[in-house]
Amino acid sequence: MSAEVAPGVHRIGGGFVGMYLLVEGGRATLVDAGTPRDRRRLERTLAAAGLGLDAVEAVLLTHAHPDHLGLAERLRADQGVPVEIHRADVAMATGVEPFRLSPHLPWWRPSVTRTLVAGLFARVPWTPPVREVVVFDDGEVLDVPGRPRVIHAPGHTAGSCVLYAEARRVLFVGDVLATVDIVTGREGPVLSPSFANVDDEQALASLDRLDGIVADVLLPGHGRPWTGGVAEALTHARRVGIHP
Ligand SMILES: [Zn+2]
Ligand SMILES: [Zn+2]
Repeated sequence: MSAEVAPGVHRIGGGFVGMYLLVEGGRATLVDAGTPRDRRRLERTLAAAGLGLDAVEAVLLTHAHPDHLGLAERLRADQGVPVEIHRADVAMATGVEPFRLSPHLPWWRPSVTRTLVAGLFARVPWTPPVREVVVFDDGEVLDVPGRPRVIHAPGHTAGSCVLYAEARRVLFVGDVLATVDIVTGREGPVLSPSFANVDDEQALASLDRLDGIVADVLLPGHGRPWTGGVAEALTHARRVGIHP
């Protein structure tokens, strides 16, 4: 399943998590890496754009949670694609610091159960860590197709980042914002629930870093693209707050 969500930007993903292919002049950047089950989807999306896997010049990870790392290690090891991530999430991405689901996960909520089951089917628990990464920091403009700028927005994880492709007016928000509330199943821009964050207060404060940014579309890891404006997304997320 793939769809062009902005000119030259394709969302690829089965259901609960998406990754994005940013195409520029026959070269491409992959923002996040989906799940281990998404390889065929990526190849089909590339083929539809007249490209092969060798067109992918970089994988940029918005953060190190395993549901965003799916194809990263395979692309690095098999195709030599550099995998880039913020410094503060390197230990988790490389498996030095193992990821654990929170004991406070409300697994009995239907929407949470559905996501967990989808994650199992997509083989997320068997996602290999990335053995080597390239580190980026806040404020850097990355020299990859689309030239996104890094906006460090910690709280969901310590190294969570938003990637801003300013020329395209596209904002990749990772899990800094989702457009579906995993706890209630309701749609609309929200922060990740508390059980999924390292620091709720920091996650909320990080929204301030997005104030004033202009984008036609906001692309989250979870949920549909949001075209209602960045300011409106932030207002909505601040109003809803964080689920305990
Ligand atoms: Zn996450
Ligand atoms: Zn996620």
